[in-house]
Parts: sequence; C-alpha cells; structure tokens
Amino acid sequence: MAIELRGLTCAGTARRVAAGDLSAAEVVDATLDTIAAGDAEVGAFLAVYGGEARQRARRIDDDDNLRARPLAGVPIALKDNLCVAGRRTTAGSRILEPFSPPFTATAVERLEAAGAVLIGKTNLDEFAMGSSTENSAFRRTANPWDVSRVPGGSSGGSAAAVASGMVAAALGSDTGGSIRQPAALCGVVGLKPTYGRVSRHGLVAFASSLDQIGPLTRTVEDAALILSVIAGADEYDSTTLPDPVPAFHNDLESDAGDLTIGVPEAWLGAGLDPDIKREVEGVLAELEAAGAELRPIELPHEEFAVATYYVIANAEASSNLARYDGVRYGFRADSDDLAGMYANTRSGGFGDEVKRRILLGTFVLSAGYGDAYYGRAQCVRTLLCNDFARAFADVDVVVGPTTPSTAFAIGEKADDPLEMYLSDVFTVTANLAGLPGISVPCGRDDDGLPVGLQIIGPALGEVKILKAARLVEQLRGPFEPAPPARTSS
Ligand code: GLN
Repeated sequence: MAIELRGLTCAGTARRVAAGDLSAAEVVDATLDTIAAGDAEVGAFLAVYGGEARQRARRIDDDDNLRARPLAGVPIALKDNLCVAGRRTTAGSRILEPFSPPFTATAVERLEAAGAVLIGKTNLDEFAMGSSTENSAFRRTANPWDVSRVPGGSSGGSAAAVASGMVAAALGSDTGGSIRQPAALCGVVGLKPTYGRVSRHGLVAFASSLDQIGPLTRTVEDAALILSVIAGADEYDSTTLPDPVPAFHNDLESDAGDLTIGVPEAWLGAGLDPDIKREVEGVLAELEAAGAELRPIELPHEEFAVATYYVIANAEASSNLARYDGVRYGFRADSDDLAGMYANTRSGGFGDEVKRRILLGTFVLSAGYGDAYYGRAQCVRTLLCNDFARAFADVDVVVGPTTPSTAFAIGEKADDPLEMYLSDVFTVTANLAGLPGISVPCGRDDDGLPVGLQIIGPALGEVKILKAARLVEQLRGPFEPAPPARTSS
C-alpha cells in the first residue's frame, strides 16, 4: 500500500515505525518515489542515495533496538556541504566536484545513531555564499510555491525539499541567514542554534566564527527533536559548548502570558515589504491578545550589521578557502609550473561570487588595512553583542521579520550582489552575536508566497525560541507542503 508522505512529520514517522504500524522500508520507498516524481521540477537534490537508503531501512526494520530510536526510519536530506564518508561532498562548487571525504560530519553521525536514514544531498550556493541558491555550480533550485522564484539560500535545496513534501527534515548551515532565510521563503521552520551548540566537524567551512548547522522541518516539534539529537559537545570541534542538551521536543508548550517579546522598531520600518509587515504585525497582535507582553526595543548598532558581516565573513572565507590549491582536494587544472597550477585551479574551480568574496576578504585582511576593516568590524561585532545583552535583560525573545521580501524571481538579483546581500539584513545579527534564531511560517503575501517570522533568543536560549515558535505555529501554522509545481500568473 502506498503511504501518504506529505503529512508525515519526523516525530510521527518515528513513533509509527517504533509501534510497528509503518515500516522504514515503506517510508523510504515512498520518499524515493516522491523525489523521482517531483525533483525534476524543483531541483532540490544533487545526489539521492537510493540503494543505500533502502538497505538501511531494511536494517532498521529488522532491528528492535534501532526501531526504538527517536528518528527511527526518518529520511533526512543533507545540504551538500556536510561530509558523509565515501560520498561526494561538493559544497556546490566545481573545485570540490570530485571530492569524497574520509569521514562523516558529527551532526550527521548523530542523526544516523538516532535511527535516521540519509536520503541524499541538497543543492546550495557555492560554499554557502548566497541567498538564492543561484550560485550553485550544478543546478537551479526552484521555490516549490512558485517555480519561477528562488527558494532562498544558501540552504535552498534543503528548504525546497522540505517545502515540497519530499522529506520531513533536512539539515542546513547558517552563517548569515542560510537556514532561516530559505525557510522563510519556502514556508518551513528553520533553526540556527547558538554558536557552539552543534559541532561544525565535517561542515565545509565558510566563516568559522559564524557557521552553525541546524534543521529545516515542517513543524516546530521536528526542529526541536532534531536539535536535541545533533547538539552537544564534540571532541572534534573545540568551539562546541559543554552545556547539557535538553530534550527540547518534550518541553514545547507554554503560556503566551509568560512571554515578553522585544520588537526592534527599526525592523518594521522603511524597506520592509508591506505584506510582510502586515503578517508580522498581525501575529504579534495575536500573541499580545493571548497574553504576551510586547516591548519596543532598540539595537542601536544594528544598522552596521550587514557591512560588519560582509567584512568578517569574507575575511574568514578567504582564509578558509586558501586550502583549495589543487594539491590536497578535488579539482586540479593543468599547468607547466606550480604557480600556474594554483592559479588555473582556483580560476577554473571557483565561481564568480566565491572569487569576489576571496578578493574582498583578502583585501580587508591585507597589511595596512587589517585594522581599518577587519579590526573595526570585530569592534562593531562586540557593540552588537552588547545591544542584544541589554535587550535580553528585559525581554525573553526578540521578534521580527526573517526577510525584507518574500521569494523573488529567479534572475532578479543575480547580477546585483549588493541587492542580494540586503536579503540578509535581519538575519546576520544573530550570527554576529552567536545567538539562536528560528524562522517560523506566519502567513502569506498577496501572491500566496510564505512569510517567515524570526525569533531570536539569548545564548543557549533555544528552549525559549522553540516555545515562542510553537505559540506562533498554534496561531498560524504549520503550512502543508506546497502543491506540486506551481507558478504565479
Ligand atoms: N546570504 C549570506 C551570504 O551570502 C549568508 C550565507 C550563509 O548563511 N551561509 O553570506
């Protein structure tokens, strides 16, 4: 009997597999069929692990111990900057096209240990640099709500895979918004944990002081469940925090009357799409009516966040990407001499946006400019951290829009890097300050495109943002998966 995948959540699947009323094999077969039927149009996947996923499902079905685990039989898609041993891990780049890592990312190992089935790798902007997934060297990904529009980025493949109902969950990475922004544009839940909550071991590095791995799911409960599986200290990432990891999914219900919400007034000001403003203000009013207290707050240095982010992220990227020299990884171009080989490998292997960032990052670190740009940006970063610390003395969470616009047309911003960078105006602050943030669907614009609400918490305040997101979900969601292949008129 064919099963109806579209309504299945991770928590629901695992419960049914444990109870024996659904087999992992059935779930995996239905997932592979759905991907085969829908992905030509959406373009979410770079690789699908058919044979292995089926084998793994049979092993789960035959093993009582595996069937009792929290993600038993749950197919999960991985952004293709997460290493899986012996599997191609491209980071969306030609330079890593032939690369298969010898180890698996810690977060991915933890998913497998919890009984999940790795179903494949999803598309992304090259090295996670972008906001539309158009910077992938390999394919276009469409927004399942309107295939003429982008899914956001850089975790656009993961967001589109969940939004189209092909999987209930995917992992992404978020350096300046790359989980929350595509989640908002695709109408799914996307969670960026506190810096250090989840190990970055096995994540292809973009900007190491900002990168975090996190889940994209349809429901808040699933985001909480996956976070509780992947979080926690790891000897392979010295920046992971030693703090205990609660079972977030068992502590989601709360009373709006206990919640104080800080609303940065500037986030609802000029430049915000009026439909997004309407939906965000609407849900804030509903939360207030349910008993929450709203307090206007100020983040005085927030106007510098995008500029600060693009100095720090590019500086770190230029250093991290120095390792792609044609000797140690992936692609190598021919040349008669060593310097020529380096130059040809990097010129031919990286795309334009990655080259732009390496140039900018190298410049802001170069002799004589390091203090003026990079050093200054680090000072502004501290000011931003202080802004949030002051805000969180009075409020539990900070709430606003996730993005300034809903999903834009494919090609609309591709030739205008500055315009593209402004997609991150509301998301980069949480990365700079190391804070947890979640995007939860809260409505639609007049074209029916999803609108995301962003909830930011204090460091290690995942419980708070998940509870607040659950309240929003009870008022407004969750969204059903997008109907197959839509385009607006
Ligand atoms: N869009 C942002 C950038 O291009 C964020 C990317 C990310 O979070 N990986 O840098």
